[in-house]
Amino acid sequence: MSDCLFCKIAAGEIPSNKVYEDELVYAFYDIDPQAPTHFLVIPKAHIGSCGEISPENSAVVAHAFEVIAQVTKDLGVTDFRVVSNCGEQAGQSVHHLHFHVLAGRDMTWPPG
Ligand code: AMP
Ligand code: ZN
Repeated sequence: MSDCLFCKIAAGEIPSNKVYEDELVYAFYDIDPQAPTHFLVIPKAHIGSCGEISPENSAVVAHAFEVIAQVTKDLGVTDFRVVSNCGEQAGQSVHHLHFHVLAGRDMTWPPG
């Protein structure tokens, strides 16, 4: 999607602090971290949010979670939270599917 911030980050058109990349997903540190470790995992192909996951595009979601498991291991992180906000009321500000991975502090439940 030409006017999508995260499509541009995945394509390298906007700089980011990369954690991991392969042909399907891109992971990078959040610009406004909410925990000592806070990175985002996104599909390279544009999906607007969790609400747009379908049988046709869901394989990348499984892959994203495999990447989360591997990258957290590589970073030495054992306890972490994965969050995906879907829709503005849920706090979604960038309309390209992304999984927040947060670690390094106590997490409250339910989240605020
Ligand atoms: P959400 O509010 O769930 O849509 O999450 C979007 C996240 O993207 C926020 O945590 C922002 O801090 C983060 N963000 C926005 N712009 C950038 C950027 N250029 N590089 C890295 N993270 C960003
Ligand atoms: Zn996009």
